Amino acid sequence: MPIENQNVTLPILAKKQISLAIKREDLRHPQISGNKYRKLKYNLEEAKAKKEHSLLTFGGAFSNHIVATAYAGKLHGFKTIGIIRGDELSDNWKANPTLLRAAKNGMQFKFVSRDDYRNKENHDFLNRLKAEFGNFYHLPEGGTNTLAVKGCEEILEYGDADFDIICCSVGTGGTLAGIINSAKPSQEVLGFPALKGEFLMEDIRKFAVRENWGLQLDYHFGGYAKVTSALIHFINDFHDKTHIPLDAIYTGKMIFGIMDLIKNNHFQPKTKILAIHTGGLQGIEGMNLRLKMKNLPEIHV
Ligand SMILES: *Cc1c(COP(=O)(O)O)cnc(C)c1O
Repeated sequence: MPIENQNVTLPILAKKQISLAIKREDLRHPQISGNKYRKLKYNLEEAKAKKEHSLLTFGGAFSNHIVATAYAGKLHGFKTIGIIRGDELSDNWKANPTLLRAAKNGMQFKFVSRDDYRNKENHDFLNRLKAEFGNFYHLPEGGTNTLAVKGCEEILEYGDADFDIICCSVGTGGTLAGIINSAKPSQEVLGFPALKGEFLMEDIRKFAVRENWGLQLDYHFGGYAKVTSALIHFINDFHDKTHIPLDAIYTGKMIFGIMDLIKNNHFQPKTKILAIHTGGLQGIEGMNLRLKMKNLPEIHV
């Protein structure tokens, strides 16, 4: 079902003569949010075709991909196993809303140290997991593989050809690669990494077949899942004024970056920008618990 792009009206946009629309992929599915739905689509078909009974994947404490995989597994009749980064979580994971949500949808966890987690693509490590859990369909961290990129090529629709710039948040870069592949030659694709990541260029090139893209590297706010009170204030203010909720890990950083670039005259007047809302709103609850502990402002819901 098509979801209409939502136009944003803010005084700064009128002043700079920029039009900004947001593709509300966050509204696509309540549990399998935004791009994670796209990334799983063809992988689920492949797992069924291979007659696999389990899905095994990797993620951290806030992972939208973990929640999406758990829910999709339940929906499509797969057992799900999540290999979770951080063995300190094994005792108190029930205090983590993201992991609790995944567990309620049937996911079984194995908590591993950060060192072990780095082996996530290693054959021996995956074979040991097969010995422990039986055969499984392997979804890499963040769900990025060729089939995931294929799913993300369906984010842009026919009517989106009019936009000059397409913006998207970047974790592993799989979603951006899909958007790059389906953008028109006249369109420029801008990625906003949510983490410090020079390495991302290489990863994106593995999947992207075109050259019409770039990364804005200055809006990671210190790294993955790192936030500042300025970012939280921005997210709350944007929500108040546009009624569009943003998460602090991905979409909040991207929209902050877009607005900052607009303020600094990065775009020509009359530029039409489309920003992809990749979802991630399930992570707000867990983020707010962490913000509260640090005495930082919380995200309004
Ligand atoms: C996972 C995720 C991303 C990043 O997607 P990649 O394909 O890993 O780059 C962006 N936004 C949200 C909300 C996500 O959950």
